[in-house]
Amino acid sequence: MTNKNKKHIVIATTIIILVVALLIYRYYIPDMKPKKQLTPASVEYTYDDSVTSSQLAEYNARQDWQLTLVNNDTPICENCSVILTALDNGQAVDCRIYPQLQKMFDDARSQGIYPTITSSFRTAEDQQDILESKYEHYQKIGYSDKKAKAYAEEWVAMPGTSEHELGLCVDIASGDSRVTNQEVWDWLAKNSYKYGFIERYTAEKQDITGIIPEEWHYRYVGEKAAKEMYENDLCLEEYLQNMS
Ligand SMILES: [Zn+2]
Repeated sequence: MTNKNKKHIVIATTIIILVVALLIYRYYIPDMKPKKQLTPASVEYTYDDSVTSSQLAEYNARQDWQLTLVNNDTPICENCSVILTALDNGQAVDCRIYPQLQKMFDDARSQGIYPTITSSFRTAEDQQDILESKYEHYQKIGYSDKKAKAYAEEWVAMPGTSEHELGLCVDIASGDSRVTNQEVWDWLAKNSYKYGFIERYTAEKQDITGIIPEEWHYRYVGEKAAKEMYENDLCLEEYLQNMS
C-alpha cells in the first residue's frame, strides 16, 4: 500500500468515527436524562418562626394568594417567596393554609378517618429529583429512554410548574391501618371544600388541567372558592376563567 493510500484510509476512518460520534450524540445522549428545566427563579422560602410579626401580618394580608394558578402553561411566579409552617412529620406548608389544614385533619380524625400528609412543599430541586426517579423507574422496568421520559413527564410536573413549589397543596394518604387510602380520599372528596380545599386533579377535568387524576392531591383555594367550585363542579382553571 502506498503512503498516499494509507493517508486516505486514515482520513476516511477519522471522518467515519466523527460522523458516528455525532449521530450517537444527536440521537442517543440527549434522551439519556430528562432535560434540566429548573425554573429560572426558584421560590424563596423561610419559616414562620424566623420572621417578624409585621412580616407575617403583611404576608397574611396579601390579596388572592390562595387562587394563584400554577400549571403546565402557567409556571410559578418569578422571585416569589413563601413563609412556611413546619409540620411534625418533616413536611411544611404555606403558613396561611395551616390552620384550615389542621382543622380538616382534626375533624377527619374525630370521624374515624386518619389522614397523613405524604408530600407538601417542595423546592424546584425536589421536583426535579422526583421527575428523575420516575424516569429511572420506567427505564428499569424496560421502557425505551424516550417512552420513560414521556411517561415520567405525564406523572410528574416539570420543575417550575408544580403547586407543591408554593406550599399551597398537600398529598394525603391513610396514616393508620384502620382506614384505607380510598376511605381517606372519599372523605376528603366530600368534605375538604368546607375547609377551603379542593381535589385538584380529577378524571373529568383532565382535559383542562392536563394532569392525570390524583385522588390524593388537595389544593387550598379558600373556603368561598372551594364551596363554589364544589357546588358547580368547576376546576381551578374554570373557576378563574369564570371570574375574569
Ligand atoms: Zn401532589
